[in-house]
Order: sequence, then C-alpha cells, then structure tokens
Amino acid sequence: MSSGLERGDRDLGAELESPATGQVGIPVDAICTGCGRIHVKRSPLESVREASTDTEPTELEVRDLTSFKHVCHRCQTATWWNSVAILSGLLESEGGE
Ligand SMILES: [Zn+2]
Repeated sequence: MSSGLERGDRDLGAELESPATGQVGIPVDAICTGCGRIHVKRSPLESVREASTDTEPTELEVRDLTSFKHVCHRCQTATWWNSVAILSGLLESEGGE
C-alpha cells in the first residue's frame, strides 16, 4: 500500500515516524540552517506567527511559520530549521484535532 507520500528516494511518512522528527507539532519539510539537510520535522506550535494562530492547522502556509530550533543529527547539535513546505497530507492523515 502506497501512502502517496514518497518523494524521490524519500519516504516522508517514514521520516515523520523517526524519533529525530519530534513528537508534537506541524509536519513540515524543513531545511537545517547549519548543513542544508532537508528532513521532515514537526514544527512546534510556538513557531506559528502570532497573526496566524487562529488559522486552522490544515490551512496554514509555510509563510505562517517562523524558523524553529531542533536537533540536527548531522550537525550533532540543536540548530535552526526553516520550514520549506507544510506536509498537509501528513497533517490530514493524522486527523487533526
Ligand atoms: Zn544540520
């Protein structure tokens, strides 16, 4: 069964399940400002811009999110990540709240 979330040689669904992705937050494709690696991360809700906090999570756009701090395993430290795309497919598959 394909989730339809494979992108090139990446399986975004599997990346989302990775412990490196985080436990809570909005699933995004994010880029590490330290090494340029792109990985699925969960953007913490605190990273939603104040003006957008009333927006439904499924209607958020990447410009509604600020950069957020998260561990990068390649940098081996916590770095800043910039969201490049909200993975609304993953968000919807979780059913939201
Ligand atoms: Zn990095």
